[in-house]
Amino acid sequence: MTTSHYSFEFFPPKTEQGQSNLSNTRKALAKLNPQFFSVTYGAGGSTQQRTLSTVLEIQTESGIEAAPHLSCVSSSKQQIRDILALYRSNDIRRIVALRGDLPSGSRDLGDLHYANELVEFIRAETGDHFTLEVAAYPEMHPQADNYQADLRNFERKVKAGSDRAITQYFYNADSYLRFVEDCDKLNINIPIVPGIMPITNYVQLARFSDACGTEIPRWIRTRLEGYGDDLDSIQKFGTEVVTKMCERLMENDIPGLHFYTMNRIEPTMTIWNNLGIKST
Ligand code: FAD
Repeated sequence: MTTSHYSFEFFPPKTEQGQSNLSNTRKALAKLNPQFFSVTYGAGGSTQQRTLSTVLEIQTESGIEAAPHLSCVSSSKQQIRDILALYRSNDIRRIVALRGDLPSGSRDLGDLHYANELVEFIRAETGDHFTLEVAAYPEMHPQADNYQADLRNFERKVKAGSDRAITQYFYNADSYLRFVEDCDKLNINIPIVPGIMPITNYVQLARFSDACGTEIPRWIRTRLEGYGDDLDSIQKFGTEVVTKMCERLMENDIPGLHFYTMNRIEPTMTIWNNLGIKST
């Protein structure tokens, strides 16, 4: 196991209470010495200001690198150029570059239609200034024609200049391991970091998984459904399932783990402690 790079993802809070929660979470997780934190970006740039202010707060207060996510859908090239300039002037060196999803009701695709075009644009505009992370889908992106086409599109995105990839979350280690094997066969050599989503609330997770194309295996679903609204049991079982999956991943040659924290300390910290990861 050569795992060495860990990262934690947050979303930019909307309220003061949310800000204070995130501040506590960030301080607790900073003690684990991650490689970086990342901060999501709302559809169509809706959180642009909050994403930037959260990133800057993290970098200033913790001294740990923070990477804004940036999606291109429904933005013009000039808007993206302006954001890149803003990020550069604020000493940001890493971006999670995405296509994103159109806000509901919107038909404006913008100038860049896929993440490979965004990566190409960022490289053309800013050279090697940014480390570029992109998304990968071991269980296939839900809009792809088929798995092979999605893999070819991933290859295109990597060739455009991506440095690393973070996967959509999954609950089936084989899907990730097979995906990495398939990438190897295509000589896609960038690190592909598994994205880990703790299980805390079954109803929300099921809805979100349907939308993003993640399968919750039937044996996990039936047990979670059986707990009804007993959140303690859901979390206990969910933590055990995710811990065991991470252990299986770590028996293989994975480059790191990226945790979707949902701005909460406990679910991520419990899995981390169960795994016995030593901060470097
Ligand atoms: P792409 O790589 O562009 O792929 C999208 C679809 O188009 C796929 O089906 C692909 O096969 C196809 N495709 C790709 N390139 C081409 C091409 N050149 N020609 C034809 N078809 C093509 N969303 C947010 O709104 N904000 C966030 O902060 C955010 N963070 C995320 C972080 C991670 C780690 C992940 C995994 C997802 C995140 N998302 C976020 C969700 C993401 O925006 C959606 O999954 C979106 O639908 C796809 O974005 P992408 O960058 O993967 O798109």
